[in-house]
Amino acid sequence: MFDKILIANRGEIALRIVYACKELGIKTVAVYSEADRNALHVRFADEAVCIGPPHSSESYLNIPHVISAAEVTSADAIHPGYGFLAENANFAEVCETSGITFIGPSPEVIRLMGEKDRARREMTAAGLPVVPGSDGIVGTEAEVRSAASDIGYPLMIKAAAGGGGKGMRVVGKESELLAQFSTAQNEARLAFGSPDVYIEKYVTRSRHIEFQVLGDKYGQVTHLGERECSVQRRHQKIVEESPSPAVTEEIRKTMGDVVIKAMSAIGYSNAGTVEFLMDEEGKFYFIEMNTRIQVEHPVTEMVTDVDLVKAQIQIAAGERLESIVPPGLRQRGHAIECRIVAEDPETFQPSAGRISVFHIPGGTGVRVDTAVYAEAVIPPYYDSLIAKLITRGKDRPEAIARMTRALEMFVVEGIQTSVSTHRKILADPDFQAGRYDTHFMERFRRTGVPV
Ligand code: ADP
Repeated sequence: MFDKILIANRGEIALRIVYACKELGIKTVAVYSEADRNALHVRFADEAVCIGPPHSSESYLNIPHVISAAEVTSADAIHPGYGFLAENANFAEVCETSGITFIGPSPEVIRLMGEKDRARREMTAAGLPVVPGSDGIVGTEAEVRSAASDIGYPLMIKAAAGGGGKGMRVVGKESELLAQFSTAQNEARLAFGSPDVYIEKYVTRSRHIEFQVLGDKYGQVTHLGERECSVQRRHQKIVEESPSPAVTEEIRKTMGDVVIKAMSAIGYSNAGTVEFLMDEEGKFYFIEMNTRIQVEHPVTEMVTDVDLVKAQIQIAAGERLESIVPPGLRQRGHAIECRIVAEDPETFQPSAGRISVFHIPGGTGVRVDTAVYAEAVIPPYYDSLIAKLITRGKDRPEAIARMTRALEMFVVEGIQTSVSTHRKILADPDFQAGRYDTHFMERFRRTGVPV
């Protein structure tokens, strides 16, 4: 087992990794920017190294600074969390050449899944059904026209290097195609440094269903069931749950089997998430894979009792899957997560500033993953997620009842948050009945809720 792990992240996930390390008896090194001097991950790690100014390009994304911090503190592994360098194949390679274990899959697999058009091809070859789409990148007007006439409308133009719900354009009809194509290329260039885009059929009324996988270094792969993340705003998840109210035991078995087969085919190691859209008939289509821990991993932990961050560390240290996940593991009960973000609920503008009151709910079946506290200052430079509120119940109604009372007692003053929006989602009859898809928030808006 590792002696010391450097945590190349901030916020709630950095603290979450500290928890896992403490339980495993591993020492921790926090890295932080000048804006995060008073952050909790700095306070609770055994050591901390300042790696630069507030802007993440000069600190959390600065590979030489992160590697130097690991070398100076003699850390033997780096956990990248999510975001920042977590899916940067180059960073994973630099870790390896510096003799530091990167806690994640191999650089080759990270690179493959980071090129979403290539991932589609490889996953098709490995037996996963994918959304019908273009055969790779569409680079010219002639190529986009020809691909669009094969696929039909509506369709979606997506950035090959995309992520975080950015770089996606829905095209309803042919007359909009070329304008949207050039906008999508420009957006992709600006956001991801590459204009490469590809096309997919737009799956209407779909649900976002994803499978949590774990693979060890010896070719063993398993899955820990699905999460449903269809409650989204601007293609970004805001409520997640496990199991999905729409996935039957039969669908779970079919999807789970093909996921394991595909992951075994590419020799996937460590934690990862295979994402699908499921249409109204229960047919599912691969959209992408994330080669890291997800924001919403706690809902899986709550229904499987597997600590996914500890599992990542144990796998990276060479432990075998069977000693981490008991054979025949099943989901038990139901869990829901609300992503509480620091945003104006009307305009969605990030709401930075000092928190004056911060009261988090507790009691049976309630978990709060956060790194903020009363008097903490939310800097304007980073992601707006301030807390994840997770509840578990013996069944979905109990998880909903717990979430409802937990949201009533979640008090944040001094900055604006999404708590009021989450209360409305939980109170919605369609949400309560499990009748929703990725358009849920749009329908919600028509009934007067700002979302
Ligand atoms: P990102 O990497 O930016 O998160 P994804 O490919 O995972 O992008 O898609 C994010 C969300 O966008 C999905 O959960 C879904 O709501 C929507 N989406 C993506 N592809 C399609 C598609 N082909 N048809 C309909 N919706 C889609």
